[in-house]
Amino acid sequence: MKPMKLTQKIRIFPTPEQEEVLWKLSEKCRLIYNFALAERRHAYRHGIKGVNYRKQQNDLPRIKKQYPEYTWVYSKVLQYVLRSLAADYESFFALRKNGYAEARSPRYKGKQYFTTIVYNQSGFKLEQGTISFSHNYNDIPLGFALPEKFSFDNTQVKQVAISAQRNRYFVTITHQVEEPAYVDNEQYQAIDLGVTHIVTAVNSQGKFLVVNNQRPDKYWNPKIARIQARRDRCKKFSNRWKLFNRIKRKYERKRDAQLKNFQHKLSTKLVNNTKANTLIVGDLEIKAMAQSKNVPNFIRSGLNRATQNTGTLGRFVHFLTYKSKRVGKRLIEFDECNTSRECYVCGKLHYMPIWQRVMNCECGNVITRDKNSCVVLMKRYLSQNAKWTGYQAFLDNLRQTAKGKTKVPSPSDGYGLEDSQEAPSVKVG
Ligand SMILES: [Zn+2]
Repeated sequence: MKPMKLTQKIRIFPTPEQEEVLWKLSEKCRLIYNFALAERRHAYRHGIKGVNYRKQQNDLPRIKKQYPEYTWVYSKVLQYVLRSLAADYESFFALRKNGYAEARSPRYKGKQYFTTIVYNQSGFKLEQGTISFSHNYNDIPLGFALPEKFSFDNTQVKQVAISAQRNRYFVTITHQVEEPAYVDNEQYQAIDLGVTHIVTAVNSQGKFLVVNNQRPDKYWNPKIARIQARRDRCKKFSNRWKLFNRIKRKYERKRDAQLKNFQHKLSTKLVNNTKANTLIVGDLEIKAMAQSKNVPNFIRSGLNRATQNTGTLGRFVHFLTYKSKRVGKRLIEFDECNTSRECYVCGKLHYMPIWQRVMNCECGNVITRDKNSCVVLMKRYLSQNAKWTGYQAFLDNLRQTAKGKTKVPSPSDGYGLEDSQEAPSVKVG
């Protein structure tokens, strides 16, 4: 058992009085951030050494004496602001060092933005479904009810942040849970992440699972394009332009939220609905390479597929990873070079452009490209990393479930788990 950190973002509903307190505290955090930033910039311009987190933290008591309003804020919260500025600088320097010339140095925080208030280790209390925070602005207590479905082991909550987005308020709770030990139970599930099917999976029993990708972008993108066209006909930054711009951003947020929601639900199902303790996905690095401009065309076309959504797929893999860990399973990223080109029966490499959905091999193997990818991925993993018995069993199972032809995937974008049990008609071995 080892600890792992999880975060949970929960909406809270402050009263108008509490809202005022939150804004006052946020304002002080913002000012201390800007103040510390100005000091660092000044030091940088004039070659003054030693303006770092430690120095700025040591200055806090003096600042509080001079400006007592800063004592409104719980002292560790202010320290955390300075630490986050230091972290912003560190990542900025790291980016520059790695050659990202366009990396921007930390910026001043504007008045209209709510600066996140972070309570690290102390200053908050979780009791009977309520979370409360220390402050010295006035006597209004900052306590918020948490919905019943969220329960935390109080001693394991390490950090709580209060944030706001468009007049909605949230607490983000970082807590530690014991990660159950992973046991290889000799059951495996290989997952192919794709475009039309975000997921095609095969388990070591040789059964397939195909999930159509939900594509909220297909619904939203045309709407976004239309509103953008209307916006662009207006004078830039005029009132009408701003109105259309707001609508456009609202649509984009909805699209992104729907996609994320879908990925959350799907990753939870994938992890929980399998007996396998080991999940295998293709290595996304290779997918990313397919997009890279430096890859010559002839290699690129040979790579699995040039997905345009590597970014959101990366997030999906991240979901799978931590959701697996939480229940004692493992997600393994594995080399998937050529998995969609290689016939899994005879090993022949085919020319498989992205639009070609079915592999039709001379050896008699007819299978959709996603399923083929999965089987190849599984075969490679089992032959290299698992016990040999697992590999044999997998091949045997595939042979036994081999009845009838593989169905060509329908282009529908429906959402749902479709446990298609039919397997490809093949001769294995
Ligand atoms: Zn073949």
